[in-house]
Order: sequence, then C-alpha cells, then structure tokens
Amino acid sequence: MNALILLGHGARDPAWAGPLIKARETLAREHPTLAVETAFLEFMPPTLEEAVATLAAHGAARITIVPVFLAQGGHIKNGLPEKLDALRRRHPDCALRLAPVAGEAPEVIAAIAAHAAAQANTNIDPRTPAPRPGKVWLVGAGPGDPELLTLKAARLISLADAIVYDHLVGDGILALARPGAEIIYAGKEASRHTLPQAQINAMLAALAKRHTTVVRLKGGDPFIFGRGGEEIEALSAEGIPFGIVPGITAASGCAAGAGFPLTHRDHARMLTLATGHLQNGGVELDWPALARPRQTVVFYMGVAAAGEISRQLIAHGLPADTPVAVVRQGTLGNQAALFSRLDEFPSRLHEANITPPALIVVGDVVRLRRDEIGYQPPGKH
Ligand code: SAH
Repeated sequence: MNALILLGHGARDPAWAGPLIKARETLAREHPTLAVETAFLEFMPPTLEEAVATLAAHGAARITIVPVFLAQGGHIKNGLPEKLDALRRRHPDCALRLAPVAGEAPEVIAAIAAHAAAQANTNIDPRTPAPRPGKVWLVGAGPGDPELLTLKAARLISLADAIVYDHLVGDGILALARPGAEIIYAGKEASRHTLPQAQINAMLAALAKRHTTVVRLKGGDPFIFGRGGEEIEALSAEGIPFGIVPGITAASGCAAGAGFPLTHRDHARMLTLATGHLQNGGVELDWPALARPRQTVVFYMGVAAAGEISRQLIAHGLPADTPVAVVRQGTLGNQAALFSRLDEFPSRLHEANITPPALIVVGDVVRLRRDEIGYQPPGKH
C-alpha cells in the first residue's frame, strides 16, 4: 500500500488545520487505494512520528511526506532531514520519501485548490471550519476477527476523526483508529443499555457538525438487528449526509466459525434471521412460520429466551431432536460452540454457562458440521 502524509505546521487554533484535513478527505475519497494522513510539526496531533507509525502498522510499503505551506528552507530549520533519518531507522521496511514541495504531488495541489475554491465561493472567513456537516458512516465491524473487516471499513476507521462504537466491536478493530481520533463507547448490552438510542442519534449529529468523517461502528452488519435504520432516519431529519458500509453478520461469522453451512440444497432452502430479544417477558415472533421444516432459523440475542424458543418451536411442530448450535464470540480466539438438540439445548446452555452475546442456529444444516473446516481465529492460518 502506498501512503501520503500531508505535513502542516500546526497552530494553537485548530481551525487553521481545516484546509489540510479537507485535503486529506478529498484525496482519500478520490484515490481509494492511497492511505492519506495529516501530521503537524507543532501544537496539534498527530506528530509526524505518530502518523508514520500508524501507516507502517497498516503495512504501508512507501510513504511520501508532502510538506504543505512549509517553505523549503524551513525543512532544515524544522529538523525534517534528521527526523526522516530517525524514522527510516525505526521503520526499515517502509520506503520514506520527502517531497520537496507540495507542487511535486499534483493531486495534493488539486485537493487544496478544490477546497480553496469552495471557500472563495462561500464568502466566509477561511479560518472558520466549513459550515457543511461532515459525513457519518455506519460501518459494519463484522463478527469480531479484525481480518473479517471489509477494506472500506478498515480505511474509514483509520481515517475517522471520531468513532462511536458498540459493545460488540473488538479491541483489535479499534486499534486501527488513527492517533488523536475521538473514540466514544455507546455500549448496548442486553440488560444495560449504556446510552439510550435517542442520545446516540443526537451525539452522531453533534459530531458531524464538528468533524469531517464520523464512523458509527457496529458489530456485524449495521442493517441487521443493528438499529442502523433508526440512526439513518435521525441523520436524514438533521440533513446530515451518511453512508453505509455493510459487514459480515454474526450468522455468517458463527457458521464459518463453527464449521457448518447455513443453507444446503438437501436440508435448508430458506434462511430466516430472527431476534430472540425479549419484549414484555416474551418473544413475539411468527412461530408457525419459524417451525416450518427445511429451513435454517438463526436467533440473534436469543440466549435469555432459549427456553421459550425451544418450547415454541416444538409446540409448533419442529421435531425435538432437530439439531441446534449455540456459538459465543464467533470468529474470535475465545469462540465457544455448543452442539445440542432442540429439546435439550436450554439446559445444556445453562450447564455450559454460555452467556450472551451468543447466536442460536436451529436446523438440519448444523448436523453437517465439519470440525476440520472450522474457522481459523485471528493470527492462526
Ligand atoms: N448487527 C449485528 C447483530 C447485532 S444484535 C450483526 O449483524 O451481527 C447482537 C447479537 O448478535 C448478539 O446478541 C448475538 O446474538 C449476535 N452476535 C454478534 N456477534 C456475535 C459473535 N461474534 N458471536 C456470536 N454471536 C454474535
């Protein structure tokens, strides 16, 4: 991967960094294969050392540092040649190059010119940040293993000015955030919702007014039991632009993790994703439909309702010996899977002390489990 660092002087007033940050946004959008960072010599984060370390950690093979609005004579004064020598020693696998002036990188000039032209047309003090709100990206973080992120998700996470993340997002994924990014935990566990949804919606809108790129990071896929629908309604109502990055949902991750397919020509020609979340002490679902044969039914958030799921499906006609898999922390190093049958799995769950979050998969496909194709968790190939 090739990377670019826009190196500015930095100032006590963060508004001065606006053009450089906008230029990074434009470059990242128009050159999706290029990783772009900003760095500053003084006053504001990240430092050049931090930006190089971030890009090197992401596997950048070649980093070009473009000093923006820094006079060439100032390179010596600012000790850039010495800094570069030290960085080359620290990152021997990374080719580091200093572009003498921004003019050597025409795409940088184009991005800065585009921003300057937009400022001129809006007739405002160039020091004040653009009044247009930033963009909020609803990003699927996948089931846990950072290697299951999409390239787009990884790029946006490493570019974000602010990240609002959920309980189900693993530490390995947050480690991709750039130094200096604002990282906010929005919680959400079955029993204690850390922040009410309305407050999360308001926070996203407020962050978009201060930042260029806001990432709302959700476990799995944002549109599958992720309340992504409610968040985009709230953002639309405020006129805030947003984008969606799909993720690998827990059903796919856990099936791969535990080594069985979700559909099969002979066993399941239908796949139903259902929520087992308890409401008013019960699960309000179309049980006759879920108990139909030759399908796979996946329950998200279903551990607390395991007893009712078992009773209802049997009462509506599914055989008591239908195989069931319960997968906890699917695709992570501490993945645990329990294989049982419809009538027995609630008590087996209890004995095995399997606590939420876990996924319940009901259907004949579970019988096709092959340990040898079992998923290789992070770091094991
Ligand atoms: N948007 C998410 C689902 C959010 S609902 C997705 O697409 O996957 C939260 C539920 O997802 C949990 O209660 C659990 O049932 C399931 N889940 C998410 N990640 C999981 C994982 N790694 N292992 C097992 N279950 C998981």
